[in-house]
Amino acid sequence: MFMPIDLKNAQELLETIKFFNQKGWSPATSTNYSVRAENQSQFIISRSGVDKSQFNLDDLILINDKGEVLPPFNRPGIKSSAETEIHTAIYKMFPEVKCVLHTHSVPGTVLSHTHVREKELVFEQLEILKGLEGNTSHDMIEVLPIVPNSQQMADIMKSMEGRFKTNTHGFLIAGHGLYTWGKDIATTKRHIETFEFLFECYLTMRRI
Ligand SMILES: [Zn+2]
Repeated sequence: MFMPIDLKNAQELLETIKFFNQKGWSPATSTNYSVRAENQSQFIISRSGVDKSQFNLDDLILINDKGEVLPPFNRPGIKSSAETEIHTAIYKMFPEVKCVLHTHSVPGTVLSHTHVREKELVFEQLEILKGLEGNTSHDMIEVLPIVPNSQQMADIMKSMEGRFKTNTHGFLIAGHGLYTWGKDIATTKRHIETFEFLFECYLTMRRI
């Protein structure tokens, strides 16, 4: 199993996965989640194909920076998500990032689909923006990039090239879902909650 510090992180990640599932942000075995292990070049990540409402500690596995499942987790049938490559690419780009979380909510899927031509969603003048690390006021503009969906993770990362600014907190994949990251699990969970709240606000404003 995991070493003590990794076990603590794995338990916190598991609680976060369960919370997101109760919110309806991980239907039909979708989504994936990771946290940097004590060995900084390794990552604890959710394994592929498991119903997130049934998720438990045994469904978290250790991988290296090439996405290979490490012993003793490399049993037959155990693999990490096809999207692992996005997680490892984000960790490689940002050494300070300790957690990467990815949700598939209805609002995120709808908005990423309807706004793919605009290539971004823009949020401003909302108090909840302070939920994103480094934002100290509602009086600001938050830009969330949208990139086309692909089954080739390299294509998705290529579409994000040049779009990771110092104040970029995440991105949407069109018709698919949200990626965000942070300095620890709690911060990254807060980023997911903030963006999901913003998506709901955006959709509600368009209805009235
Ligand atoms: Zn996904």
